[in-house]
Amino acid sequence: MPQHVAGGNNSAMSCACFRFYAELNDFLPPQRRGQTFCHQFERQASVKDMIESFGVPHTEVDLVLVNGESVDFSARVEGGDHISVYPVFESFDISPLIRLRPAPLREPAFVVDANLGRLARYLRLLGFDTLYRNDYDDPTVAQISHQERRILLTRDRALLRRSIITHGYFVRADHPREQLAEVVARFDLCRLLRPFSRCTRCNGLLERVEKREIASRLEPKTRRYYDDFLICPDCGQIYWRGSHHERAVKLVEGLCGCGG
Ligand SMILES: [Zn+2]
Repeated sequence: MPQHVAGGNNSAMSCACFRFYAELNDFLPPQRRGQTFCHQFERQASVKDMIESFGVPHTEVDLVLVNGESVDFSARVEGGDHISVYPVFESFDISPLIRLRPAPLREPAFVVDANLGRLARYLRLLGFDTLYRNDYDDPTVAQISHQERRILLTRDRALLRRSIITHGYFVRADHPREQLAEVVARFDLCRLLRPFSRCTRCNGLLERVEKREIASRLEPKTRRYYDDFLICPDCGQIYWRGSHHERAVKLVEGLCGCGG
């Protein structure tokens, strides 16, 4: 599509052409998906602000080319620019170009937005360090993500627009099990699973506990049939290999094809 500058009675208008690649198109309205579109603007803006004005969170973007050159988020968009915007590359090397986000977090840790509680429990079940409270507000999760270098998981695009967030992910799926599969695939988590090592209630690291120490707290049937127990030192919750455990094993097998 040819570049053009809107002229006529408004000479201050500039126009830049954008094309978004791969899953970044999920964020665009249908008529802008998979094709170049031109955007008229009056006021100068950074490439980050302009990308986000189309509804694409900057945390989803890994590479921006302006007229074929990689730039960082602060680059100013000029009239006539052709801008290509790419998501995280899973399989090909773009290291000679500027990566927009810092290196991936080595041990992924998460902070989960208030409306994704079941996803948070699933992530803990798989052993991932996951902070979640149902009363977290936006500034709180953004601050935790920034200070503790945790990946923010949310379904709120506006939250991902906050510039202090460097590692965030917009969860697409509606159902918690699908959300879990999506996050596991996106962050390549299968190799890092440590199922049944964390408290699903509070994120504490579970420890073995002698049956006699907690026997008084068990239901009679549990006391009769089970001998191995884990306890959360933070909230006191007790875990054992009951039917819940078998369902959880099946969940892990379904996600990664192994027992973890
Ligand atoms: Zn706990």
